[in-house]
Amino acid sequence: MNYISTRDTSCRRSADEVILQGISEEGGLFVPEELPLFQPGEMEVPLDYCARAEQVLGKFLGSFTPEEIRACVRGAYTGGRFENDTPAPLRQAGTDGTYLLELWHGPTCAFKDLALQILPRLMAASAAKRETKEEIVILVATSGDTGKAALEGFADAEGTRVLVFYPQNGVSEMQKLQMRAQDGNNVAVCAIEGNFDDAQSGVKRIFTDEGMKSLLSAHGMRFSSANSINWGRLLPQIVYYVHAYAALAEEGKIAFGEPVNVVVPTGNFGNILAAYYAKRMGVPLGRLVCASNRNNVLTDFIRTGVYDRNRPFFPSLSPSMDILISSNLERLLFALSSRDAVAVRRLMLSLAGDGRYSLSGDMHDLLCDIFSGFYCDDERTKTVIRTVFKERGILLDTHTAVAWAACEDYREATGDSAPALVVSTASPYKFAGSVCDALGIPVPGEDFFAPLDTLHAATGCPVPAPIGRLRGKAPRFSDVCTKDTMAAYVSRTLGL
Ligand SMILES: *Cc1c(COP(=O)(O)O)cnc(C)c1O
Repeated sequence: MNYISTRDTSCRRSADEVILQGISEEGGLFVPEELPLFQPGEMEVPLDYCARAEQVLGKFLGSFTPEEIRACVRGAYTGGRFENDTPAPLRQAGTDGTYLLELWHGPTCAFKDLALQILPRLMAASAAKRETKEEIVILVATSGDTGKAALEGFADAEGTRVLVFYPQNGVSEMQKLQMRAQDGNNVAVCAIEGNFDDAQSGVKRIFTDEGMKSLLSAHGMRFSSANSINWGRLLPQIVYYVHAYAALAEEGKIAFGEPVNVVVPTGNFGNILAAYYAKRMGVPLGRLVCASNRNNVLTDFIRTGVYDRNRPFFPSLSPSMDILISSNLERLLFALSSRDAVAVRRLMLSLAGDGRYSLSGDMHDLLCDIFSGFYCDDERTKTVIRTVFKERGILLDTHTAVAWAACEDYREATGDSAPALVVSTASPYKFAGSVCDALGIPVPGEDFFAPLDTLHAATGCPVPAPIGRLRGKAPRFSDVCTKDTMAAYVSRTLGL
């Protein structure tokens, strides 16, 4: 199994090269040359999460031995890193066929842990395979959750450094403290004056800067990425869709083969793209519903076939989805164009130049065969949090609430009442202030942890241990830069 770039199909790489490199030289994203399929009966064999992960990863990581894959998987998903060693529990959310796929029981309480606990292990295995002596520098742009998950995944991992950039006013207070208080001798965190798109473009620019690359190489280092542009981030996310579908069938909630719709709160289009790959591999997923907040560039794209980022940017209650340039869409465009790298390059040039592009009629039809798009504003997000808690006793975070709203709207608009998997991406305690506000509970005082205590007292829902442990931790990092001084910050921090 080899990988090709979405912008150059003649460029072929092995899985380990792709994981180490992160992004292709010419700016394209790596995709598998061929999507592996599930064999008849293969999915029906009951497997626990680790065994399922080994099965799925084994199909994609042709250059890894089964023992290497097993070590990475067990290292990431066992040993108490995830609550009760269950990385992706399913929760029945009522009698109307709605299920929550809870992906926030890991060390940083957001779904990014599912990939970022295993990525450092895949990278270390890849480096060992290639006998790379260079230190790997992971540059991360984060809308809040990736940063902490990458810091936690790579902290003190041998042969790596991690540098995280987050939008100064674009993440929750809890997310900020989680990152700024990170332990580890190989980590650094910097706020940037700007939004996530600024951070992401800055990181991409540094990555592809030839001068920077040679400077790094002269110091025995190389860049890689822990953002979902790295295939090693996306691949582990396919696993939980397979696992969730199989679990629903095993528990008799559905008959095997019956379609299950998936609703995903979306930002960079990574999580929902993993669902798309799972579907293409043969998992009987139905409609893929892309849920957005008021930054609804993806809703418009799915409905009209025109992607247009020339629009105001709105900070919202679901900050991890405040994104106008969804990087992973490039991989979908590649698939929808029947792997036409020239067409993808043209669309991406248009995006870089005019901030917009239009799909051909054929590509738009293919998109609409699979995806639906819905969005909601902050008021609706709060209403959903309040009603779902009142009527079902389930506490949703602000991102999952956006997906819940999209699920309701999709059912209402189409009459499709098939079972739905609503992907729950973060613990409500990461956004405790907003959740208290949604429930109409006043938070007394100014204390940083007051929203947590108030939410816990009002709902009885347990505070995840990793968040509780932040009490009494002091921030270690206070650097701030602009998008123009990001490169200088990188040089300074790495001692170049
Ligand atoms: C990152 C994130 C998202 C968006 O996921 P993408 O893969 O970027 O589409 C949604 N919710 C939460 C809580 C997140 O951290």
